[in-house]
Formats: sequence, C-alpha cells, structure tokens
Amino acid sequence: MKYDPKSLQAEEFINDGEIQETLAYAEQNKANRPLIEGILEKAAQCKGLTHREAAVLLDCELEDVNRRVEELAIQIKERFYGRRIVLVAPLYLSNYCVNGCVYCPYHHQNKTITRKKLTQEEIRREVIALQDMGHKRLALETGEDPQNCPIEYVLESIRTIYSIKHKNGAIRRVNVNIAATTVENYRKLKEAEIGTYILFQETYHKENYEKLHPTGPKHNYAYHTEAMDRAMEGGIDDVGIGVLFGLDLYRYDFVGLLMHAEHLEAVHGVGPHTISVPRIRPADDINPEDFANSISDDMFAKIVALIRLAVPYTGMIISARESKKSRERVLQLGVSQIGGGSRTSVGGYEEPEPEDENSCQFDVSDNRTLDQVVDWLLRLGYIPSFCTACYREGRTGDRFMSLLKSGQIVNCCQPNALMTLKEYLEDYASPATREIGEQVIREELKKIPNEKVRRIAEEHISDIHGGRRDFRF
Ligand code: SF4
Ligand code: SF4
Repeated sequence: MKYDPKSLQAEEFINDGEIQETLAYAEQNKANRPLIEGILEKAAQCKGLTHREAAVLLDCELEDVNRRVEELAIQIKERFYGRRIVLVAPLYLSNYCVNGCVYCPYHHQNKTITRKKLTQEEIRREVIALQDMGHKRLALETGEDPQNCPIEYVLESIRTIYSIKHKNGAIRRVNVNIAATTVENYRKLKEAEIGTYILFQETYHKENYEKLHPTGPKHNYAYHTEAMDRAMEGGIDDVGIGVLFGLDLYRYDFVGLLMHAEHLEAVHGVGPHTISVPRIRPADDINPEDFANSISDDMFAKIVALIRLAVPYTGMIISARESKKSRERVLQLGVSQIGGGSRTSVGGYEEPEPEDENSCQFDVSDNRTLDQVVDWLLRLGYIPSFCTACYREGRTGDRFMSLLKSGQIVNCCQPNALMTLKEYLEDYASPATREIGEQVIREELKKIPNEKVRRIAEEHISDIHGGRRDFRF
C-alpha cells in the first residue's frame, strides 16, 4: 500500500508505512533546532503543520520549545476563536449495541449494564429538561443496533427534538454521533438538518483496531475509516473526527489523526469541522488500567496544543470525561467547545437514574451543573456561548472554512456569543452567574472592533432584555 492522501482507500490515506516513517523521522529530529525553529515559524504564521512537522514537535523534549508550543497555541486559539467557548450537551438515545468494543460498556456481551432506548415521549421530556438548563446545542449518541436503533428512529428523534419549543427554549443545532453508515443514510441525516456528523476513529492502528473491535460491523476498519468520505458524499459537509487517547500508542494515533484531517482537506477541500480529544475513562465493566497506553495530563495538554498548531481552523471539543482541572488547562490551549451539565446515561436529565440502574457510557469527571460551568468560564475570562448561527445561516463546509481560515469568523463568534449568553442570563442563570455575566457582556461589547457590528449587537442585547430571542450574525 502506497501513501496517498487523495485516495479513498483507508489504508492508503492512513498509511501504516507513512506513519512508521513519520515516527522514525520525528525521533531522529526531535532535537534538530534549525528544523524545529522553521516548524515553529510556520505555525506562528497560522499556516498549519503537516503530520511530519507536528510529530517532530510532539517528540521534542526541549523545554523552551515546549513553552513556545504552548504560547503559540494560546495565540492561535485567541486569533481564530477569540475568548468564546461553545457549550454542548450529549443526549444518549439508546445503548443497545451489536458491537464488541472492548473499551466501551455498551459492548454487546456486557450483561450487567441496563439497556435502554428512549421513546419519543421520553426524548421530549429530556429535551425540555435540557432546554430548562439553557442548552441550545445537542450531540446525539447511540450504540449501533439496526434492529433496536435503526436510522428511522434516529431521524424521528431529530424531528422530535427540533419540534420542541418550551418557554424560551429551543434546540437549535443537533449534532449526531452514530455508527458508520451508508451514503444513503448520511443523505437522510443531512435532510434532517443535522449540524456536525461526529465519528471517532478510536485508533488508527489497523491491527489493534481489529483487536479492540473483535466482533460486530465496527470490526471492519476500512468501512469505519472511510465513513467521513461517505458522509461528505451524502452531503454532510461538517464532520468531526477524534481518537480515544489511551487505546493505542498516542504518537501513532496523533499522526493518524492529522493524516485524516489532511485527507479530508485533500479530497473534499474541507478539513474536519471539529476534532475531539477524549481519553479513556472508567465505566461499568471497563477499567482504564487495563489499557497500558494511557497518557499523562502533560502529554494530553501538549497534544491539544499541537492539534491547535497543526489544524488552526478546527474546532476542538472536550467532554465532561475530563476533570475541571484538566479542562481548565486545555481550554486556553485550543479547546473551543465543551460539555456542560452532561449526563452519559440514556435519559437522566429529567430525573437522575435510579441507583439500581446503570446505563452510562463512562463516568463523568466533571459533575458540575451547566450554571456552575458557565459561572466558572466567566470567572476564567471566557465568554460561554450558546451560538448555533453558522449552520442556520448556511455557513457550512467550504463557506465556513473560508471564513475561518481568513480569521473573519471571530467577527461572528464574538457578538453571537454575547447575545446567546444574554439569553442564558435572562432565562436560566443563577443570580451570581447573572451578575458576572452582565459585567462580562458590558466589557466585551466594547471590544468588538467593527462599530456597526457593535451597535447592532448592543441593540439586540437590549431587545433580548425586553423579551425577544434568537438574534444572530
Ligand atoms: S463504542 Fe459505540 S459501537 Fe462500540 S460498543 Fe460502545 S456504543 Fe457500541
Ligand atoms: S458564529 Fe459559527 S463558529 Fe462562531 S460560535 Fe457561532 S456557530 Fe460557532
């Protein structure tokens, strides 16, 4: 197999030979100062990095270089995304699964987990509970089970979710994280107006991938790895990738992840809309210590910083798998979207699961409520954002990417963040969060550079106070 980023065959665009050569090249050059200086210079110009260049920085142990990597990540994050952090909540619809993934408690041999699938009425109640928290953006999660959870069920659930308007609440964007599927099904998801289609690769190492997925359709490495190309063919132009760090050697997966981003860009002209950085977590039947490749907090932070340097335009997501401390560190280095008030059980927002049931996919490290997360972000100097404007304005795929790459998206993100934060403060916030939130809005409004945009944002914020909703740039 030859390496070809433009190929549509998994083993050519995620080519093992190329990854092995990259890792050897990185090892040889990890202290090569002239080369490293050149790579840092390229990163500083926000030109992104190739997988080879990023791999050299990953291996580099020179302290001053690692400090510079962090500084650059902070600068690039600020330039492309400003201070806004978008909030999202997972909604698990069903945990029936026919696959045998060894790291996930939903694997079909697990007899101790409680199997559940939400009815449309239960979804309605969950969505009302999520709206009452203040959420506007969801990520739907399901196991893979064509009998219990067919595509028709997912589509019906999306329709249900979008149809619910409770008080001032509305879910304005539904991202979908379901198993790799056919072009036809991706087309149906597009027609159902999903936001991003998200699918984690888990690991790019084919042999280990097959061992970690011993049974079920997910065993097929090529079908899974080529899913994003089918999604794009089906018309979904915002796709989100990620690996589950801890399953395999992180160096290999880091390079594979960047090669996947390069492949999407080479073939479709649009790189990944988001990259997620989950780490393996404890769950029913799963002990992270069984996975010898877990990574330290320092290495995790470095990976986040390097993804920011390598793919400056991509959104980065971190879930409530990570602790408050770990999230705090990576927020400044590159993460642009986080889960808040998340539940990883099937249902559980309206009422917590009874103690004798357990349908969770993993234990949540960060158990704070959405209001506590919003308050924390405000006090750290970020703008918590409930913005969903881009895809509703048709800014998806290459339209979105060109705005992002030219650095102009920040002109939309900033006022949209302030307006959606204002909605949150009016409708859902605790008095303490409201107080600091209002202060942040007043200060941040002054920083909007374009006078016209600033004036319109001020007017809209005043209208929101008067009861109107859903403004966007
Ligand atoms: S990771 Fe997904 S496919 Fe695998 S067992 Fe869990 S829910 Fe099923
Ligand atoms: S303006 Fe677009 S990129 Fe910015 S936060 Fe809103 S949806 Fe995201």
